[in-house]
Amino acid sequence: MATDGQPPLTDTPAPASDADALLRLENVVKWFPLRSDRFLRRSTDHVQAVDGVSVSVRPGETLGLVGETGCGKSTLARCMARLYDVTSGRVVFDGDEITTMARRDVRRLRREMQLVFQDPYGSLNPRRRVGSIIGDPFAIHRVARGAERRRRVRELMRLVGLNPEHYNRFPAEFSGGQRQRIGVARALALRPKLLICDEPVSALDVSIQAQIINLLADLQAELALTYVFIAHDLAVVRHVSDRIAVMYLGRIVEIADAEGLHARPRHPYTAALLSAVPVPDPDLADQRERVILRGDVPSPINPPTGCRFHPRCPKARDLCVTEVPALIRRAGDPASHLTACHYPVEAGERLAAERPRLAAEHTEWRGDPNGGGPP
Ligand code: SF4
Repeated sequence: MATDGQPPLTDTPAPASDADALLRLENVVKWFPLRSDRFLRRSTDHVQAVDGVSVSVRPGETLGLVGETGCGKSTLARCMARLYDVTSGRVVFDGDEITTMARRDVRRLRREMQLVFQDPYGSLNPRRRVGSIIGDPFAIHRVARGAERRRRVRELMRLVGLNPEHYNRFPAEFSGGQRQRIGVARALALRPKLLICDEPVSALDVSIQAQIINLLADLQAELALTYVFIAHDLAVVRHVSDRIAVMYLGRIVEIADAEGLHARPRHPYTAALLSAVPVPDPDLADQRERVILRGDVPSPINPPTGCRFHPRCPKARDLCVTEVPALIRRAGDPASHLTACHYPVEAGERLAAERPRLAAEHTEWRGDPNGGGPP
């Protein structure tokens, strides 16, 4: 463990992003301008929703993306699918850079990459019959018409576990889980390579969540799909993911194989999230120490300097306030485990209950010749 106030010297930079990745994000930034001067229509502030994310998704894997509400994961998902234009950076899908792609080519991209949304109630038009909702992609992309379209829709309904005889029903006649199946069927209509599932089970009852997760797993095996699975619940993400990326305030702070991340979280934020995951074994639950994070997530309009987690981090030191930690492999970790932290959590280490006071945050007080306390 580094104890001298400096980060360990044996860390190594992250390897170059996978050349054979299906989806590759390189230093993606997405800022939303805030109009602060209504008269001149100038924007001086920005919501820094995503700030320098690099990550790749390999064919056939599930990459879990986890973090608290507002950490930027849904914005990142929309950047991946070119629903948002990025502020800077590159998104490469199946060898094509989509960040600069012409609009007509984005239409082709939609066949290969689809989103499944969080709200199965809000994402379906209540006035349209389910058969026509699921068949929309066939109509939009002029793939199938008439009887052929109806046949394919019924096939999709069977594939996702819906009764094809319910073709003419309206969304309100289905339960929450069935509506999410409708959303999945629509997303699969054009046989995409990649599904981006944005909180696909968080609006569902716990008993239904497992059914949808199992359905997604079965479809992945049957159709050789690749998933990006977004959720705020680390237990759900662990269950479905091969690798997990943890986001905090617009940045990825840790990424690793699902099991490696759970066995040995290295970022204090990941350790805190994991300590809050319920465990079924009461003895294990008693032994486990809960890491309580103090304070709220800071505003993405004016994020903290250096490590964005430093105002809440129980391990924060002065270096954390001034220097952004790189997302790199830390000493002793496998090549696939990258952490953005100057002082990663060591095996068996207990995180302090209180965050330390940092001299770097109280420069005016340090200079006070009368020796008064910090404000
Ligand atoms: Fe905490 Fe510093 Fe690591 Fe950030 S860089 S997570 S503040 S120890």
